[in-house]
Formats: sequence, structure tokens, C-alpha cells
Amino acid sequence: MRAWLLHDTNGPESYRLESIATPEPGPDEVRVQLRASALNHLDLWVSRGMPAPHHFPHIAGGDGAGVISAVGDDVTSVEVGAEVVLNPSVSCGKCDACLSGESPFCRSYGILGEHRPGTLAEEVVLPVRNVVAKPANLSWEQAAAYPLATGTAHRMLRRARLSAGDVLLIVGIGGGVASMGLQLGLAMGATVYVTSRDQSKIDQAVAWGAAGGFDSAGEFSKELKATAGRPADVVMESVGPATFNQSMRSMQSGGRIAVCGATSGPKVEISVPYLFFKQIEIIGSTMFNHAEFLAVTGLVSSGKVPVIVDSVTPFEELPAALARLDEGSQLGKVVIGR
Ligand SMILES: [Zn+2]
Repeated sequence: MRAWLLHDTNGPESYRLESIATPEPGPDEVRVQLRASALNHLDLWVSRGMPAPHHFPHIAGGDGAGVISAVGDDVTSVEVGAEVVLNPSVSCGKCDACLSGESPFCRSYGILGEHRPGTLAEEVVLPVRNVVAKPANLSWEQAAAYPLATGTAHRMLRRARLSAGDVLLIVGIGGGVASMGLQLGLAMGATVYVTSRDQSKIDQAVAWGAAGGFDSAGEFSKELKATAGRPADVVMESVGPATFNQSMRSMQSGGRIAVCGATSGPKVEISVPYLFFKQIEIIGSTMFNHAEFLAVTGLVSSGKVPVIVDSVTPFEELPAALARLDEGSQLGKVVIGR
């Protein structure tokens, strides 16, 4: 099969399209012939060694959808030819964390394309418990686009206890988690505001149902209060130092800020008195458990939560798609077609 391989961690330019042996599934694994994959910032971070892959050459890619092309000896729940979506959360399935349903706390927790070969290939092997039936209402591109971003956004909003009628602020609308957070927030009955440096992204978010948007580089905490009439109950943060101070100041007393990334850098400074006087909760969140994956699969299957695809790039043109993600030009998921 053909796969985009990383032989080193010198950045996204290191991806090389090569032919390698098609992998065979183990006893409780399946092999999926991919019809579409989707990119995540993780595919950029891994190419830069943050974190470094466990083995070289490495195949990145956490999101994908396709057709089962082989099954292991112990697999009885799916057959060759079944159309499936991949859950990129990989865990041991046996430890206390896994058995209690909280696989992200498994000590051997990993992400497809980070800890094991991923979806930037023609075929991928993964545990059978990591595939679910492809929602019939979604195209292959939409099916590949929703898992990682929608699952991550869902867990963030659940942990931040977003409720109908809340004001939700999404900082940095553009990436997959933010754009799917907007769709989830609207479906949950929140009033959603967004920020971006790009007015056209704000305009699109408003067209989807956001109540308004502000410049990420400005004092958006003041603009939010002026426009919404009050601060936010919940803030979704994935930008980091470029916006964190404004995000903290956008919350009302008792507000929750859910953080899943830091695209502008790893360190922020916060005012501790502001934190405790305002009784703010800072909630770190990453990935999602299987129940959350099934929940978002149900939501996109029902049509209540549209899947936002930014663009579809042919498999052979992966570098162009990675560059689009790296520049932050996208609004929604950058999909790799077949
Ligand atoms: Zn485990």
C-alpha cells in the first residue's frame, strides 16, 4: 500500500509518499481501506517531534473512515465490506480507567497516528472496538472529519457543564474543535460568540448561528460584555498565550474555561487573585472516552450537528493540506480524499 511516512521530525516537509507492506490485523483487530482521512494539529506536532513517534518510519493521522478489508481471527462483530468510522482513542481496554469508561486516563492511552500507525495511508489496522458503523447520512469526507474534533469538543463542553441558555465563547473559530464546538453549543441551546483574526470566519460563524464575533487580537472580553450584556459562562480555549488573558476576563464569576490546546505557545500567565475572587474553574481536557464518541456519532447521525468540512485535498497532495492547516487558513476540517 502507499502511505505518507515520517522518517524524522524535521517538520511537515518530512512527509514522504512511499510504498510499504500492507499491514495484517492481529486476532482482535481489523484492517480498514480508507476512503477519506482528516488532518489534526497533531499531524503537524508529531512531524516536529512534539511528541516524537515511538517508531520510524511513522504514519500519522488520527481521523478516517473506510471499508473493512480484513478481520483478525477473533473478530465476529464486523465483516469484510462493512463501512466504518474510526475512533482514534486507543487504550488497553483492561485497566481500572478503561473498565470504568474513562479511557483517556488509561496509562497506555494513545491516539491513532501518534502512538500507533495512523490514517495517512491507504489502509490502517486498529482494534475492532475502535470502529463503529459509518452514519448513513454522512459522505465519506464528513465521516472522516467528525471523530477527533467533535469528540474533543463534546468532552470539553460536558466537563465545563454547558447548559441551555448559557453564553459560550469560542476563542479562535477556525480549527476543527472550535467549529464543531460551535455546532455542538448551538445544538445544546447555548448562545454562542466566537473570536477570530479573520472577519470572513466570523461572518461564516454568524451564518451558522453564532450570535456575534470579535477580533481575537482585540479586547474581546469588553466587546463580549457589551454585545451579550453579560460575560460568558463557558469559554473554549485552544489558542494559549495570544488570547488566554482575554479569555479569562471574558468569564463571569463561577465561569469555566475548558482548554484543549495552545496553538500560539505553551505558557500563559494568570492573575491568581482574579482566579479565586471570580471563583473560575480552569478545565484541561483532551480527547474523549468511548461513550462520548458514541454520543457524538449519534448527534452527527441525527443531523442535529452538521459536520464542517473546510476542504478536501487528494491523498497525493497531502503537503498542500498540511500547509493550509499550519497557516490557520481553514474553517472546519481539512480532509484528505481518495
Ligand atoms: Zn486501560
